[in-house]
Amino acid sequence: MKAIGLLGGMSWESTAVYYRLLNEMARERLGGLHSADILMRSFDFAPIAELQAKADWEAASDLLVEAAKGLEAAGARCLLIGTNTMHICAEGMEAAISVPLLHIADVTATAISDAGCASPLLLATRFTMEQDFYTGRLRDKHGINVFLPDSGERDDVHRIIYEELCRGVINASSKKRYLDIIDTAEQRGADGVILGCTEIGLLISQQDIRLPVFDTTRLHARAAVDFALADDD
Ligand code: GLU
Repeated sequence: MKAIGLLGGMSWESTAVYYRLLNEMARERLGGLHSADILMRSFDFAPIAELQAKADWEAASDLLVEAAKGLEAAGARCLLIGTNTMHICAEGMEAAISVPLLHIADVTATAISDAGCASPLLLATRFTMEQDFYTGRLRDKHGINVFLPDSGERDDVHRIIYEELCRGVINASSKKRYLDIIDTAEQRGADGVILGCTEIGLLISQQDIRLPVFDTTRLHARAAVDFALADDD
């Protein structure tokens, strides 16, 4: 089994989910007392979120790239950035490390295509919804054109992530807001829903939604365990 490098803490609420999923998936595959081989760097999220809010992506990326190099030096055989948003630094990171970066948008795109969906709704931070690093990759590399919530809806989706989900707060009214946004998108023609922020699965899941749901945290963890357990070359 190969060691999985995980850049976490963004927020730790979702990193805890990654940790559980990676271990559960390894146990499902190998049985007995097996668990995943994980090297994790868990950041204090407050300074990272401040850099995001100031749009100082370079400083935030520098922190993550340094940490990724450290995980590689410590023996990680692949890397996960445990947040959709910070994939904004994916290209710089790929250039700085020699082990594969399992890109969360790529593994999500594979699941979307396998499900036969072409226009899923993207629920994510404003950064992920509005900048090109994520939607552009889905479009240009995978031919997937996402639906975006309208501006007021994007504000609410983003606010609920930072003010509630990343702080461990789960509100019924926020869940209803998300489900209403999904209903509206379905009426406009969305054929799936991307939970494009690693905390959204704490609020809503496939059980709440008619459309196929693509939970990026779960898909990312699955891809990592598949990689870790694939035959060594
Ligand atoms: N975990 C979130 C994501 O997947 C948001 C927090 C962050 O900005 O890293 O985008």
